[in-house]
Amino acid sequence: MAGSYLGNMLQKRGHEVQVFESLRPENHWPVCAWGASRHMLEKFSEKAGLDFEDYIMHVGQRLRMDLPAGKVEYLDLKGLVTYNKHKWEHDLMQGLEIKYGAKVTKEDFQFEKYDHVLDCTGLHRTLLPKSEEDFLIPAYEYLLEGVKGEDEFYTIGYKGAKGYFWYFPLDDGRGYMGAGDVEKKYHGIKEFFEQHPEAKIVKKIGRPIRLAPPKKMEPFFDGNVVGVGESIGCVFPMLGEGIIPSLLCCDFFLDALDDKKGLDAKKYRKKVLSYFDYYDDVYRIVRLKMDGKLSTIRHANLLMSMYRHMKKEESRFGFEVSLEKMNRLVNAL
Ligand SMILES: Cc1cc2nc3c(=O)[nH]c(=O)nc-3n(C[C@H](O)[C@H](O)[C@H](O)COP(=O)(O)OP(=O)(O)OC[C@H]3O[C@@H](n4cnc5c(N)ncnc54)[C@H](O)[C@@H]3O)c2cc1C
Repeated sequence: MAGSYLGNMLQKRGHEVQVFESLRPENHWPVCAWGASRHMLEKFSEKAGLDFEDYIMHVGQRLRMDLPAGKVEYLDLKGLVTYNKHKWEHDLMQGLEIKYGAKVTKEDFQFEKYDHVLDCTGLHRTLLPKSEEDFLIPAYEYLLEGVKGEDEFYTIGYKGAKGYFWYFPLDDGRGYMGAGDVEKKYHGIKEFFEQHPEAKIVKKIGRPIRLAPPKKMEPFFDGNVVGVGESIGCVFPMLGEGIIPSLLCCDFFLDALDDKKGLDAKKYRKKVLSYFDYYDDVYRIVRLKMDGKLSTIRHANLLMSMYRHMKKEESRFGFEVSLEKMNRLVNAL
């Protein structure tokens, strides 16, 4: 995704761009549940010359979250939608030179041919050194069709914040149903199929999601390689939500790039680290909770930092951010 958005924007600015994609066109499919805030995607789409209205599949009103011990929480949605990410990415790449079926490797790539080589390989981080502090959560999902009676965003939060189940409606009885779970139990998937024998599987897809934030994913550079997006940890750790963070990261790259002089690497690194600074707090909360060590009293500052930042960015998230609900959620998990 970051690769298609940056390709589009860089070409517009007059750069010569080549995109390498390991999958063949017929197999290329964004592994993602396609949920994000329309307020942000409208802006990114406009910059790239697309009208986001053309891609929206479902506009959410209220998200239901089942919690351990039979508790249920509802969140009012403020712009959370599902959209056709496949079409969005493909439309961004119109007019770009793309080499499909080209799996780039450190060993074979001709780095010297380019001023900058952007590692937008997401989870793989193919061209950058591995980080000792990386942390991934296994996940997979089904694209379903013919689903009846599920017309809203639905999630199940797992005990100890070990992950969650989701059903994100698309259109016409289609939806993504899946889960991320450090323990790989994926509670909810079997139950969903039992409740919906009518559901037909169109695709089964998956890959782990990176939860380690940018602070834990340095270096961002290696020679003329620059990491952008999930490859350098631009994912909100509490939700495994990486669309908007990765696109924001693309804009930080574009801001730090002088069309004549090239990238101001210092400026880019500083912006990424400062903007995503609070993701480090959120990541600590998630890891403490997973290890059974989160205390609402001892870690009150961390929790308040997460709340304040999220509250400021309600429209970026696309759902209501309420202190009361957040406390109930932290206690229930
Ligand atoms: C199951 C699942 C559900 C998710 N649901 C959501 C959601 O609903 N909302 C949300 O905000 N986030 C979600 N995410 C996270 C989100 O999809 C990612 O964080 C986001 O797409 C990252 O964008 P990116 O461009 O950095 O990487 P990606 O979108 O992963 O793109 C990486 C691209 O690089 C290609 N590639 C990889 N290695 C190579 C190589 N060696 N050579 C050439 N090409 C290569 C891949 O084929 C891919 O096309 C989900 C993730 C998963 C796994």
